[in-house]
Amino acid sequence: MTLTIRSAVFSLYLYLSLPPLNKALMKLNFCSLSSGSSGNCYYLGNEFHGILIDAGISATSIRKFLKNIDISMQTIMGVLITHNHIDHVKGLEVLTRRDSLPAFTTDKIRKSILTPQSKISRDCIRKIPLQEKFQLAGFDIEAFPVCHDAPETVGFHICAGGKKITIATDLGHICQTAAPYIKAANLLVIESNYDEEMLANGRYPRFLKTRIRSDNGHLGNQQASVFLAEIINENLSHICLAHLSRNNNTPEKALQTLQQIFSNKGIILNGQQQITILNRNIPADIIRLIE
Ligand SMILES: [Zn+2]
Ligand SMILES: [Zn+2]
Repeated sequence: MTLTIRSAVFSLYLYLSLPPLNKALMKLNFCSLSSGSSGNCYYLGNEFHGILIDAGISATSIRKFLKNIDISMQTIMGVLITHNHIDHVKGLEVLTRRDSLPAFTTDKIRKSILTPQSKISRDCIRKIPLQEKFQLAGFDIEAFPVCHDAPETVGFHICAGGKKITIATDLGHICQTAAPYIKAANLLVIESNYDEEMLANGRYPRFLKTRIRSDNGHLGNQQASVFLAEIINENLSHICLAHLSRNNNTPEKALQTLQQIFSNKGIILNGQQQITILNRNIPADIIRLIE
């Protein structure tokens, strides 16, 4: 009896340890753990492995949120970093040190994170090329440049199990380089940072309002919705409006703007597209791209 149990455990271990690169994926799940100007972290994974995109909340919260959706930290193969702002790297030092998680980003972003004050070990952040595919956890991943006020900022285009996921969370406008990656997505996470009226009438100083609205700042509800109305197609099955501002936006405003602009352009959502407004401080529902 003992032998049987041991054999079963051993077989299970072997099964879990096999690299799934040549296996057809049985599952592909996406979950936003946190999205917004207070912290960003997204999970993408199959039944074997997963990755994180950004680590802008504490490592403790990341572990807790993953555990709540039955994801073990041991299955996370690395974290992709979009840029050096604190709402994208807050938990990175602990994740790399305590959880031995490697981070992946461009050389320029790597250098911007590894300042003399940074406690992150240099070896923990690996350089990736810009606009060239690399593999992690069996996924094909490409970083593409976006316009934002950091030394460099990227979005990520990830192909897994025949599905294409694009993440573009901090961008002042949609430049020509970024547009094709956004248009190609089946699941798109796109910034919808501020409501134009709330920002104009809000208490932010003028210089900050100008910065947010600039081509290197953040994407507003109008900008995101107008672009989405242009690119919407039957392959785009999931739209996630992301990185909402705490002070200059509400989920209702972001959704209303999208609905209004779609309606003005005669776009009728017939249930083929799932639209989600990502929560600021708590995980959103899991999106099951392949069940
Ligand atoms: Zn941000
Ligand atoms: Zn930023």
